[in-house]
Amino acid sequence: MESKAQEGNNNVWESLETYFLATPEPIIGAKTIQILIIREILDYAAFRTEDTKELNTMVTPTSVTIKEQISRVAFLASKQKAVETREMERMLRTAVDSLDLNEGDKNKDPFKNITECYLKDNLCRKCPRCILHGATALSSEANIKHRIEYSTATSLLPWNDIEETITFNAINDKDISTGQALGTRYLVKPATIFPSIITLKSVTKEEFILAVKSLLSCKSYGAETRIGGDVRNHIIGIVAGWEEIITSLEFTLELYDEKTDSKITKEKVTSILESYKEMAGNKNKITIEDKIDEIIKAVQETNLDKEFLSKVYTDSQNFYNSQNKKKK
Ligand SMILES: [Zn+2]
Repeated sequence: MESKAQEGNNNVWESLETYFLATPEPIIGAKTIQILIIREILDYAAFRTEDTKELNTMVTPTSVTIKEQISRVAFLASKQKAVETREMERMLRTAVDSLDLNEGDKNKDPFKNITECYLKDNLCRKCPRCILHGATALSSEANIKHRIEYSTATSLLPWNDIEETITFNAINDKDISTGQALGTRYLVKPATIFPSIITLKSVTKEEFILAVKSLLSCKSYGAETRIGGDVRNHIIGIVAGWEEIITSLEFTLELYDEKTDSKITKEKVTSILESYKEMAGNKNKITIEDKIDEIIKAVQETNLDKEFLSKVYTDSQNFYNSQNKKKK
C-alpha cells in the first residue's frame, strides 16, 4: 500500500506522465518536453571560441516587437552540452560507485558491464548518458542519435550592455609596478541573463530526472583556465507536446519585450507559452506545466539509488543490444 507522501509525489508527474516513454527506443517519436531556463551569470565569463579573444556574438532582432537588429552575446549550444553531459556522466559514475554492491550484484546485469565512458574519444555507447546525449559510432556499430537537444542561447541584453573589456598587465613583484599591458580580455559581466531551452525527445521519466539534476548541478561554464564562468540555471518553464513549441531565440525576444518589469516570472513564461501554443501543429497535445516547483523538488528528492540505477542501466544496455543486433 502506498503512503500518503508517495501518492502526493506521484501526482506531481500527472501531467507529464503521458509524454514519457517506459523505456528508451532508438527510433524517436513525437513526444517532446521543453525545459525553459534562465542561465544567470554569476562571475565574469568568457563565451568565445578558442582561437579568438572576442566574445561570440549573433545578430538578431531586438525583440518580437522591435525589429531593429542588434548584436547579442552567444552562449553556444556545444558549450552548454559539453558541461552538462560531463556532469551527467560524473553523477552516474559516482552514484554507481556509492552503491557498495556485493560481489553477486557486481557480476550481474546491469552492473557487470559498466565500462569507462569519457569525452570525446571513449564514449561507451551503452550507458544512460550515451544513449540520451548520443554518440558517434567509431567502428561498425550504429550511431546513437541524441534525444536531448541544445540550441545556442543569446543574451537578453545587447552585447555592448553586458561586455566588459579587461586589460591585464604583468606585475613586477619587486616594486609592485605594473609592466606593459599583456593583453585585453573581453568578458561577459556578472548578472547577465541568457534565456535558454533544452528539448527532450522520447525520453523516460528517469532520463528527464537525470537531465534536470544535471542542469541544477552545473555551475561552471565559459571559464578560462582558472577564472570565472560561474553560472546558475533557473528552471522557469516546462512545456510538453508532440513537437517543439518555442525556440530559444523566440524565448529571448519575447522576454526582452517584458524586461522593463525587471523580474522574469513563471507566470510571464506561462503566458508566452500560451501564445505559442496557438501556433502549434498539434495544439491540443500541448501541456504547459503549472507545477514546476513541485517537479523540481521531486527531482531533487529522487535518490540515485540501486533501484533507479538498475532501471537506467538496464534500459541503456537493452538499447545498445537492440541497436547492435539490428546491424548484424
Ligand atoms: Zn557512456
